[in-house]
Amino acid sequence: MRKACVAAKSAGNTLGFVPTMGALHEGHISLVRAAKKQCDVVAVSIFVNPAQFGPNEDLAKYPRRLEEDSKMLLAEGVDLLFTPSSEEMYPAGATTFVDVDGMSERLCGKSRPGHFRGVATVVNKLFNIIQPDVAFFGQKDAAQCAVIKRMVRDLDMTVKIKVCPVVREPDGLAMSSRNAYLSPLERNNALVLSRALQEIQRHYQNGEHESAKLINEARKTFATQPAVQLEYVEVVDAESLDPLQTADPGALVAIAARVGGTRLIDNILLN
Ligand code: AMP
Repeated sequence: MRKACVAAKSAGNTLGFVPTMGALHEGHISLVRAAKKQCDVVAVSIFVNPAQFGPNEDLAKYPRRLEEDSKMLLAEGVDLLFTPSSEEMYPAGATTFVDVDGMSERLCGKSRPGHFRGVATVVNKLFNIIQPDVAFFGQKDAAQCAVIKRMVRDLDMTVKIKVCPVVREPDGLAMSSRNAYLSPLERNNALVLSRALQEIQRHYQNGEHESAKLINEARKTFATQPAVQLEYVEVVDAESLDPLQTADPGALVAIAARVGGTRLIDNILLN
């Protein structure tokens, strides 16, 4: 992969990179298309990164559809696909990790200890292998974007980070590889996440800027759907992930909830 990337860049081409865990959907493809538009050569990785899963999480059952994914990427004109094994990425004795202190414990980091450390570490490793000019991430994982941007700044990395908008199903559900776990009923119940976010946006636009009150509106929406357990709803600064008492334009509202056995996340930026 290193050789292929060096060769691709040697002619003065810009290299765009889209890291994924596979089971690709339109959300991933939107990143690929943005990369194709902005860069001469596009590399994609598919790696279900064990370091970002907790011991009781869905690592083993995470959907793996390499053949289908490869076909989709080929059809999009992706130039390079990197699908390393866990053994290649984490050989015995690998003990170096990237911790984005203070941010790794925010939002999903609270209930998924070690998650963002796993993310930052693998993304750093992938950047070192691929050496992209621009890397593309989805706003769907807003905290992940903030963590990666901070890592790039703090470690003086030269890669540019481009964040692309959340891609949704027509009814509002944010696309996610984990949606494949949902039964038709759960799939319908899961709409409460995007509904709660829309409610918050509406109240914000009607002049309610106090975070506690906005959060309360989301809780009310969730109360109408008891089959879904709200894990958190928070109003934070989109860059630092620090909680905000008063929501300002651009504030990030992030939600995590459990629909049956499936943990889903979604977010919006207030405007
Ligand atoms: P994943 O395979 O879930 O690790 O996601 C790989 C990349 O795709 C990440 O940068 C995600 O934020 C992005 N992504 C996943 N779902 C969506 C979506 N619905 N809209 C936009 N980007 C997404």
